[in-house]
Amino acid sequence: MCELCTKHGDGKIWYKNAKNYANDLVSDLRRRQYVQNFLEGTIGEGMSSLGRLETIFGKKKKLPDRLVSAMVTKAKEEHFGQVVPIEDIRTIIEKAATVVRMPCACRWAADRKEKRCCYSVSYSPETWHDNLNMSYFGKASNEGFETLTGNEAIAQMESLEEEGAIHTIWTMVTPFIGAICNCTSHDCLGLRTLAMHVETLSKGEYVAQIDPELCNGCGGCESVCQFDAISRQVVSGDPIAVVNRSKCYGCGLCCSHCPQGAMRLVGNSVVDMVRNPIKSATHSI
Ligand code: SF4
Ligand code: SF4
Ligand code: SF4
Repeated sequence: MCELCTKHGDGKIWYKNAKNYANDLVSDLRRRQYVQNFLEGTIGEGMSSLGRLETIFGKKKKLPDRLVSAMVTKAKEEHFGQVVPIEDIRTIIEKAATVVRMPCACRWAADRKEKRCCYSVSYSPETWHDNLNMSYFGKASNEGFETLTGNEAIAQMESLEEEGAIHTIWTMVTPFIGAICNCTSHDCLGLRTLAMHVETLSKGEYVAQIDPELCNGCGGCESVCQFDAISRQVVSGDPIAVVNRSKCYGCGLCCSHCPQGAMRLVGNSVVDMVRNPIKSATHSI
């Protein structure tokens, strides 16, 4: 069980605990102020310091321990993420009750391109309209939001997964779950930070597992995995995918991109198998 589940799960996975979407969390003044300053502060300023950090990391291959520790502590208090497969995103959407789509703040910060793949959940749509300052995107304060049904949001996120995005959830002052994001390692502030071994985004609750009898070694899973967790090995003269469990973040992208249905997700702790219930197979390392 991860730290968030222990502190905020009440015996469940923390993001399945309805308390973490509760409307009374919205009345917390610190949280409201955090949300108001979120786009310019957390994302805008985070993206401008990212370049400096990547330069240091590129030269020294690591960031100073004290800095890493401070970044992770701050993230755990304010804006912490976790990778979540689409099956559990469905559960979150049901608990969150309201969904508002808006442009992706990281992609906008990185190259001023608008891609609408960020989903604000919980609160009410009006509260998001009132709290987030959309001038960050060069828009009027109430422009750029769309209220969606849960089914509409899920269908869009399934398409984003087909394009290669992974789903992540983020707190807006922990433990309030305020955002579901659809990210790629190229664009996402969180994934780029993780690439420097700063864990402001935690692994999912699952790991991928391969069925060697179904795998034909095509490499589709390897090419979509954003965590470099899949390689191919030759076994008895045939190529086969192999999952490195210690690198796997449990996003499920390899499952949805496998034409053979040879990948599934299995629970790594408190949860059980969620995808492709195929017979037992253990071709992972
Ligand atoms: S976390 Fe992902 S979807 Fe959210 S703003 Fe960043 S890249 Fe965009
Ligand atoms: S995509 Fe499926 S069939 Fe292809 S290598 Fe990966 S697990 Fe095997
Ligand atoms: S192995 Fe599969 S589930 Fe694990 S990180 Fe890679 S794509 Fe995601």
